Amino acid sequence: MAEKRDYYEVLGVSRDAGADEIKKAYRKLAVKFHPDKNPGDHTAEEKFKELGEAYEALSDPDKRAAYDRYGHAAFNGGGGGRPGGGFHDPMDVFSQIFGGAFGGGFEEFFGGGGSRRKGSGKQRGSDLRYDLEISLEEAARGVEKELEIERYVPCDPCGSRGTKGSGGVKVCSTCGGRGVVARQAGIFIQQSTCPECRGNGETISDPCTSCKGEGRVQRDSRIKLRIPAGVDTGTRLRSSGNGDAGVRGGSAGDLYVFLHVRDHDVFERDDADLFCEVPLPFSVAALGGELKVPSLDGQSSIKIPAGTQGGTVFRLREKGMPSLSNGRRGDLNVRVQVEVPTKLNHDQQEKLRAFSESIGEHNSPMQEGFFEKAKRFFDL
Ligand SMILES: [Zn+2]
Ligand SMILES: [Zn+2]
Repeated sequence: MAEKRDYYEVLGVSRDAGADEIKKAYRKLAVKFHPDKNPGDHTAEEKFKELGEAYEALSDPDKRAAYDRYGHAAFNGGGGGRPGGGFHDPMDVFSQIFGGAFGGGFEEFFGGGGSRRKGSGKQRGSDLRYDLEISLEEAARGVEKELEIERYVPCDPCGSRGTKGSGGVKVCSTCGGRGVVARQAGIFIQQSTCPECRGNGETISDPCTSCKGEGRVQRDSRIKLRIPAGVDTGTRLRSSGNGDAGVRGGSAGDLYVFLHVRDHDVFERDDADLFCEVPLPFSVAALGGELKVPSLDGQSSIKIPAGTQGGTVFRLREKGMPSLSNGRRGDLNVRVQVEVPTKLNHDQQEKLRAFSESIGEHNSPMQEGFFEKAKRFFDL
C-alpha cells in the first residue's frame, strides 16, 4: 500500500492554516475531484476520498491536535490504511457541509457552513420530559417542587470513564470515531448509527462492571424545581443539564417539565383573569349590602348596590393571577347569582305575598323592557 500522504499536503495548506482556509481549500478540491464530475475516473475518486479523510481530521480541533502530535497513528494506531471491515466515507463530511444534497448549484449550500458532526466529542445525554400537575394556588404563588425521575446519572465507580483500567477506551475503528457510518446511494447519502460502537465513537476492551462501559447508570434521582408564579397549563420549563447524563462524560441533556394546572373548584382562569360565580341572597340584591367572596388572597368582600340584578359581574382589580412575563396581576371577576329561597314557612309566604301586592306591576325594571320587546307574543 502506498505511503499515506500528509493531510496538510492533501489539502495544499500550511500547517498553521486557519479553519477557514482549510474549509476553503477542501471545498475547492472537493468540487474538482467529486465523483459526479469525474465519472469512471478512479484516480479522482481516490483523491476525493483522501481529501475527505484529510478534511475530517483537520477540521475538528481535537482531531487536528491529535494529528499534529501523532500523525496518522492518531487515528488508526498504525501507519497504513484502515483496519479491515471498517470503511470511511468522505461523502459524509461533504454532505454535512453542503446540506446533504448534490446536483444543484453548490453555492446555495455554502451559506450555512458545516454543522458540528455527530460523534465528534462525547455523546450527549437525552432530553427528558416530565409532566407535572400543580394547583391553581401553586400556579398563582409559584412553588418549589421535588421531582423524582428515573434517569441516567454519571457512574461513580469509574468516574464516568466507562472503564476502571487504563487505556481501555479506543476510537471505534468501524466509524473512525464519528458514531455514524455513511454510504452513497445515488445522489443521496445514507447515514446510520455505527453498529460496532452504537454511535458512541469509542469501543472499550475492559468495561466498568457498574455501567457496562457507558459511564452512566440509570437511577431514581430527585430534582428540585422552582416554578415561577403565573405559569399555566402548557407552560414548559427547562431544567438545564437535568436530563440523562451523556455517555462517558458527555454533556447531559435537559429536562423539560410540562405543566398542567388542575381545574379549580371555585375559579376559572383565562390567562391572568379569574372568574367565579357567587350566590347572592335576593334580599341583599334588593336592599344592597356586603357580599363576601373568595379570592386567592383569602376572603374579600364587595359592596352590593341596592337593586343588583342576577348575572351582574363585579370586577376586583388585581385579584387575579400574576402574569408570567411581567408579574402584573389580572382581575377577579365575580358574577353574582341571585338566590331564590326554597323553604318558606307560612308566615314568610304571607309576607312575600303582601310585599308582592305592595310593589305592584310597575317596579320591575327588567320586566318592563322585556315585555316591551316581547309584546307581540303576549297580545294574542
Ligand atoms: Zn463506531
Ligand atoms: Zn462505570
